[in-house]
Amino acid sequence: MTLYKKVEAVTNIPWYYIAAIDQYERNVRSARKDIPKAEGITGIYFKPEEWVGILNPNLEDQNPTSIKFFNGIGYDGNGDGKADLHNDEDVIQAFAQYLLKYGVDHDNIKIGLWDYYKRDKAVGLIIDKSKIYKHFGRIDLEGHAFPVPYKSNHSYKNTWGDARGWGGRRIHEGTDIFADYGVPVRATCFGIVEMKGWNRYGGWRVGIRDINNNYHYFAHLSGFEKNLKVGQVVEPGMLIGGVGSSGYGPPGTSGKFPPHLHYGMYKDNGFTEWSYDPYPHLRLWERQDRQKARKK
Ligand SMILES: [Zn+2]
Repeated sequence: MTLYKKVEAVTNIPWYYIAAIDQYERNVRSARKDIPKAEGITGIYFKPEEWVGILNPNLEDQNPTSIKFFNGIGYDGNGDGKADLHNDEDVIQAFAQYLLKYGVDHDNIKIGLWDYYKRDKAVGLIIDKSKIYKHFGRIDLEGHAFPVPYKSNHSYKNTWGDARGWGGRRIHEGTDIFADYGVPVRATCFGIVEMKGWNRYGGWRVGIRDINNNYHYFAHLSGFEKNLKVGQVVEPGMLIGGVGSSGYGPPGTSGKFPPHLHYGMYKDNGFTEWSYDPYPHLRLWERQDRQKARKK
Protein backbone atom coordinates (compact mmCIF):
# COMPACT_ATOMS: atom_id res chain seq x y z
CA MET A 1 0.00 0.00 0.00
CA THR A 2 2.84 2.39 0.89
CA LEU A 3 4.40 1.62 -2.48
CA TYR A 4 1.14 2.20 -4.38
CA LYS A 5 0.62 5.54 -2.61
CA LYS A 6 4.18 6.50 -3.45
CA VAL A 7 3.54 5.81 -7.14
CA GLU A 8 0.37 7.88 -6.94
CA ALA A 9 2.32 10.78 -5.39
CA VAL A 10 4.89 10.70 -8.21
CA THR A 11 2.64 10.02 -11.21
CA ASN A 12 -0.89 11.13 -10.17
CA ILE A 13 -2.17 7.70 -11.26
CA PRO A 14 -4.64 6.76 -8.47
CA TRP A 15 -3.20 4.03 -6.21
CA TYR A 16 -6.10 1.65 -6.80
CA TYR A 17 -5.21 1.25 -10.49
CA ILE A 18 -1.62 0.41 -9.58
CA ALA A 19 -2.83 -2.01 -6.90
CA ALA A 20 -5.22 -3.62 -9.40
CA ILE A 21 -2.52 -4.12 -12.05
CA ASP A 22 -0.17 -5.55 -9.46
CA GLN A 23 -2.84 -7.93 -8.15
CA TYR A 24 -3.87 -9.01 -11.66
CA GLU A 25 -0.24 -9.80 -12.52
CA ARG A 26 0.23 -11.65 -9.22
CA ASN A 27 -2.81 -13.84 -9.96
CA VAL A 28 -1.72 -14.61 -13.50
CA ARG A 29 1.76 -15.36 -12.29
CA SER A 30 0.63 -17.81 -9.62
CA ALA A 31 -1.60 -19.62 -12.13
CA ARG A 32 1.07 -20.05 -14.83
CA LYS A 33 4.21 -22.12 -15.13
CA ASP A 34 5.87 -20.17 -17.97
CA ILE A 35 6.60 -17.12 -15.77
CA PRO A 36 9.12 -17.19 -12.89
CA LYS A 37 7.68 -16.91 -9.36
CA ALA A 38 7.60 -13.43 -7.83
CA GLU A 39 10.73 -12.57 -5.84
CA GLY A 40 9.61 -9.37 -4.16
CA ILE A 41 6.33 -7.78 -3.16
CA THR A 42 5.14 -6.86 -6.62
CA GLY A 43 3.47 -9.36 -8.92
CA ILE A 44 4.29 -7.37 -12.05
CA TYR A 45 6.56 -9.24 -14.42
CA PHE A 46 8.64 -7.92 -17.32
CA LYS A 47 10.75 -10.17 -19.50
CA PRO A 48 14.42 -9.07 -19.49
CA GLU A 49 14.21 -8.12 -23.18
CA GLU A 50 11.16 -5.93 -22.50
CA TRP A 51 13.00 -4.29 -19.63
CA VAL A 52 16.25 -3.44 -21.44
CA GLY A 53 14.73 -3.02 -24.93
CA ILE A 54 14.43 -5.67 -27.65
CA LEU A 55 17.55 -4.62 -29.56
CA ASN A 56 19.68 -4.08 -26.46
CA PRO A 57 22.56 -6.60 -26.59
CA ASN A 58 22.93 -6.49 -22.79
CA LEU A 59 20.00 -8.36 -21.21
CA GLU A 60 21.20 -7.37 -17.75
CA ASP A 61 21.43 -3.68 -18.54
CA GLN A 62 20.55 -1.47 -15.54
CA ASN A 63 21.63 1.83 -17.01
CA PRO A 64 18.52 4.04 -17.40
CA THR A 65 20.11 5.98 -20.27
CA SER A 66 20.97 3.01 -22.48
CA ILE A 67 17.65 1.31 -21.61
CA LYS A 68 15.87 4.43 -22.75
CA PHE A 69 17.97 4.48 -25.92
CA PHE A 70 16.88 0.92 -26.73
CA ASN A 71 13.25 1.76 -25.93
CA GLY A 72 13.12 -0.61 -22.97
CA ILE A 73 10.40 -0.25 -20.35
CA GLY A 74 13.03 -0.35 -17.54
CA TYR A 75 12.99 2.60 -15.15
CA ASP A 76 14.82 3.85 -12.08
CA GLY A 77 11.90 4.26 -9.67
CA ASN A 78 13.75 4.54 -6.37
CA GLY A 79 16.36 7.03 -7.60
CA ASP A 80 19.46 4.91 -6.95
CA GLY A 81 20.70 5.46 -10.51
CA LYS A 82 19.89 1.89 -11.58
CA ALA A 83 16.86 0.50 -13.40
CA ASP A 84 16.75 -2.83 -11.62
CA LEU A 85 14.35 -5.50 -12.89
CA HIS A 86 14.55 -7.14 -9.45
CA ASN A 87 13.61 -4.03 -7.49
CA ASP A 88 9.89 -3.69 -6.62
CA GLU A 89 9.86 0.07 -6.78
CA ASP A 90 11.65 0.19 -10.14
CA VAL A 91 9.26 -2.39 -11.58
CA ILE A 92 6.05 -0.74 -10.35
CA GLN A 93 7.23 2.72 -11.34
CA ALA A 94 8.20 1.39 -14.78
CA PHE A 95 4.63 0.20 -15.34
CA ALA A 96 3.29 3.52 -14.05
CA GLN A 97 5.61 5.43 -16.39
CA TYR A 98 4.33 3.34 -19.27
CA LEU A 99 0.70 4.26 -18.38
CA LEU A 100 1.66 7.89 -17.87
CA LYS A 101 2.30 8.20 -21.61
CA TYR A 102 -1.45 7.74 -22.12
CA GLY A 103 -2.73 9.95 -19.30
CA VAL A 104 -3.96 9.57 -15.74
CA ASP A 105 -7.75 9.68 -16.20
CA HIS A 106 -9.90 6.54 -16.30
CA ASP A 107 -10.35 6.33 -20.10
CA ASN A 108 -6.69 6.86 -20.91
CA ILE A 109 -5.60 4.34 -18.29
CA LYS A 110 -7.95 1.86 -19.98
CA ILE A 111 -6.42 2.58 -23.39
CA GLY A 112 -2.91 2.18 -21.95
CA LEU A 113 -3.90 -1.16 -20.42
CA TRP A 114 -5.41 -2.34 -23.68
CA ASP A 115 -2.25 -1.46 -25.59
CA TYR A 116 -0.22 -3.38 -23.05
CA TYR A 117 -2.31 -6.54 -22.65
CA LYS A 118 -4.17 -6.64 -26.01
CA ARG A 119 -6.93 -8.61 -24.27
CA ASP A 120 -10.31 -7.12 -23.31
CA LYS A 121 -10.70 -9.58 -20.48
CA ALA A 122 -7.44 -8.48 -18.84
CA VAL A 123 -8.45 -4.81 -19.02
CA GLY A 124 -11.90 -5.64 -17.64
CA LEU A 125 -10.47 -7.64 -14.75
CA ILE A 126 -8.02 -4.87 -13.82
CA ILE A 127 -10.61 -2.09 -14.03
CA ASP A 128 -13.03 -4.11 -11.88
CA LYS A 129 -10.31 -4.76 -9.29
CA SER A 130 -9.52 -1.04 -9.19
CA LYS A 131 -13.20 -0.36 -8.39
CA ILE A 132 -13.10 -2.86 -5.52
CA TYR A 133 -9.93 -1.33 -4.03
CA LYS A 134 -11.32 2.18 -4.45
CA HIS A 135 -14.60 1.19 -2.79
CA PHE A 136 -13.01 -0.33 0.31
CA GLY A 137 -9.97 1.97 0.44
CA ARG A 138 -7.64 -0.88 1.35
CA ILE A 139 -5.88 -3.86 -0.21
CA ASP A 140 -6.50 -6.53 2.42
CA LEU A 141 -9.73 -8.10 1.14
CA GLU A 142 -9.34 -11.81 1.78
CA GLY A 143 -12.36 -12.70 3.98
CA HIS A 144 -15.11 -15.11 2.88
CA ALA A 145 -18.63 -16.17 3.83
CA PHE A 146 -20.65 -19.33 3.22
CA PRO A 147 -23.27 -18.60 0.50
CA VAL A 148 -26.31 -19.47 2.65
CA PRO A 149 -26.64 -18.65 6.37
CA TYR A 150 -24.86 -21.45 8.23
CA LYS A 151 -27.93 -21.86 10.48
CA SER A 152 -30.29 -22.46 7.56
CA ASN A 153 -31.46 -25.98 6.82
CA HIS A 154 -29.16 -27.08 3.99
CA SER A 155 -27.08 -30.00 2.76
CA TYR A 156 -24.41 -30.55 0.13
CA LYS A 157 -22.06 -33.25 -1.08
CA ASN A 158 -18.96 -33.22 -3.22
CA THR A 159 -20.30 -33.75 -6.75
CA TRP A 160 -17.88 -31.63 -8.75
CA GLY A 161 -16.89 -33.43 -11.96
CA ASP A 162 -19.91 -35.78 -11.97
CA ALA A 163 -21.63 -36.39 -15.31
CA ARG A 164 -24.69 -34.27 -16.07
CA GLY A 165 -27.30 -35.24 -18.64
CA TRP A 166 -29.42 -32.18 -19.41
CA GLY A 167 -28.33 -30.14 -22.43
CA GLY A 168 -25.78 -32.59 -23.80
CA ARG A 169 -22.80 -34.29 -22.28
CA ARG A 170 -21.02 -32.10 -19.72
CA ILE A 171 -19.59 -32.38 -16.25
CA HIS A 172 -20.94 -30.86 -13.09
CA GLU A 173 -18.90 -27.68 -12.60
CA GLY A 174 -19.88 -26.90 -9.04
CA THR A 175 -21.41 -27.93 -5.75
CA ASP A 176 -25.19 -28.11 -5.20
CA ILE A 177 -26.35 -26.77 -1.87
CA PHE A 178 -29.88 -28.02 -1.26
CA ALA A 179 -32.07 -25.65 0.77
CA ASP A 180 -35.64 -24.34 0.77
CA TYR A 181 -37.04 -21.81 -1.70
CA GLY A 182 -36.09 -18.28 -0.74
CA VAL A 183 -33.26 -19.09 1.67
CA PRO A 184 -30.92 -16.05 1.41
CA VAL A 185 -28.00 -16.40 -1.01
CA ARG A 186 -25.05 -14.18 -0.12
CA ALA A 187 -21.81 -13.08 -1.73
CA THR A 188 -18.94 -15.28 -0.58
CA CYS A 189 -16.09 -12.82 -1.17
CA PHE A 190 -15.02 -9.22 -1.69
CA GLY A 191 -15.64 -8.68 -5.38
CA ILE A 192 -17.68 -7.17 -8.15
CA VAL A 193 -20.84 -8.39 -9.89
CA GLU A 194 -19.65 -9.34 -13.36
CA MET A 195 -22.83 -10.97 -14.65
CA LYS A 196 -26.51 -11.17 -13.76
CA GLY A 197 -29.40 -12.62 -15.77
CA TRP A 198 -30.89 -15.74 -17.32
CA ASN A 199 -29.14 -18.74 -18.80
CA ARG A 200 -30.98 -21.88 -19.97
CA TYR A 201 -28.82 -24.11 -17.78
CA GLY A 202 -28.35 -21.94 -14.73
CA GLY A 203 -31.67 -20.08 -14.72
CA TRP A 204 -31.43 -16.80 -12.81
CA ARG A 205 -27.77 -16.55 -12.02
CA VAL A 206 -25.11 -14.17 -10.76
CA GLY A 207 -21.35 -14.15 -11.36
CA ILE A 208 -19.00 -12.39 -8.96
CA ARG A 209 -15.28 -11.82 -9.58
CA ASP A 210 -12.98 -11.54 -6.58
CA ILE A 211 -9.59 -9.82 -6.43
CA ASN A 212 -7.77 -13.13 -6.94
CA ASN A 213 -9.31 -13.59 -10.43
CA ASN A 214 -11.70 -16.24 -9.10
CA TYR A 215 -15.16 -16.19 -10.61
CA HIS A 216 -17.96 -17.26 -8.25
CA TYR A 217 -21.08 -18.52 -10.01
CA PHE A 218 -24.50 -18.71 -8.29
CA ALA A 219 -27.25 -20.46 -10.26
CA HIS A 220 -30.93 -21.57 -10.10
CA LEU A 221 -31.87 -18.54 -7.96
CA SER A 222 -35.53 -17.75 -7.20
CA GLY A 223 -34.72 -14.09 -7.86
CA PHE A 224 -32.20 -11.33 -7.24
CA GLU A 225 -31.79 -8.88 -4.40
CA LYS A 226 -33.68 -5.91 -5.85
CA ASN A 227 -30.80 -3.42 -5.94
CA LEU A 228 -28.21 -5.84 -7.29
CA LYS A 229 -26.48 -4.50 -10.41
CA VAL A 230 -23.69 -5.56 -12.74
CA GLY A 231 -20.60 -3.57 -11.73
CA GLN A 232 -21.64 -3.40 -8.08
CA VAL A 233 -18.99 -4.01 -5.44
CA VAL A 234 -19.94 -6.66 -2.87
CA GLU A 235 -18.51 -8.05 0.33
CA PRO A 236 -18.79 -11.44 2.06
CA GLY A 237 -22.30 -12.05 3.44
CA MET A 238 -24.03 -9.41 1.29
CA LEU A 239 -27.47 -10.59 0.09
CA ILE A 240 -27.64 -11.24 -3.67
CA GLY A 241 -30.78 -13.39 -4.07
CA GLY A 242 -32.67 -16.46 -2.91
CA VAL A 243 -32.41 -20.23 -3.38
CA GLY A 244 -34.70 -21.46 -6.16
CA SER A 245 -35.07 -24.03 -8.93
CA SER A 246 -34.92 -21.83 -12.02
CA GLY A 247 -33.36 -23.06 -15.24
CA TYR A 248 -33.40 -25.93 -17.75
CA GLY A 249 -35.54 -23.99 -20.22
CA PRO A 250 -36.55 -20.54 -21.50
CA PRO A 251 -36.55 -17.53 -19.12
CA GLY A 252 -38.80 -18.09 -16.14
CA THR A 253 -38.65 -21.92 -16.24
CA SER A 254 -38.69 -23.25 -12.68
CA GLY A 255 -39.45 -26.38 -10.69
CA LYS A 256 -37.76 -28.95 -12.95
CA PHE A 257 -35.62 -30.13 -10.00
CA PRO A 258 -35.57 -29.61 -6.21
CA PRO A 259 -34.55 -26.12 -5.07
CA HIS A 260 -30.83 -25.70 -4.57
CA LEU A 261 -28.01 -23.26 -5.05
CA HIS A 262 -25.53 -24.34 -7.67
CA TYR A 263 -22.20 -22.81 -6.68
CA GLY A 264 -19.28 -22.84 -9.13
CA MET A 265 -15.74 -21.48 -9.01
CA TYR A 266 -13.59 -20.59 -12.02
CA LYS A 267 -10.10 -19.24 -12.36
CA ASP A 268 -8.47 -17.00 -14.99
CA ASN A 269 -4.77 -17.28 -15.89
CA GLY A 270 -4.54 -14.44 -18.42
CA PHE A 271 -5.48 -16.66 -21.38
CA THR A 272 -8.37 -18.90 -20.40
CA GLU A 273 -10.76 -19.76 -17.62
CA TRP A 274 -11.33 -23.16 -16.03
CA SER A 275 -13.60 -24.67 -13.38
CA TYR A 276 -12.24 -26.04 -10.13
CA ASP A 277 -13.83 -27.76 -7.16
CA PRO A 278 -15.55 -25.35 -4.72
CA TYR A 279 -16.40 -28.06 -2.20
CA PRO A 280 -13.36 -27.74 0.13
CA HIS A 281 -13.75 -23.94 0.15
CA LEU A 282 -17.44 -24.21 1.03
CA ARG A 283 -16.65 -26.52 3.95
CA LEU A 284 -14.03 -24.08 5.20
CA TRP A 285 -16.21 -20.98 4.87
CA GLU A 286 -19.13 -22.70 6.59
CA ARG A 287 -16.87 -23.62 9.50
CA GLN A 288 -15.47 -20.08 9.68
CA ASP A 289 -18.97 -18.55 9.71
CA ARG A 290 -19.93 -20.82 12.60
CA GLN A 291 -16.77 -19.93 14.53
CA LYS A 292 -17.32 -16.20 13.92
CA ALA A 293 -20.88 -16.46 15.25
CA ARG A 294 -19.67 -18.29 18.35
CA LYS A 295 -17.12 -15.56 19.11
CA LYS A 296 -19.77 -12.80 19.06
ZN1 LIG B 1 -25.23 -27.94 -9.78
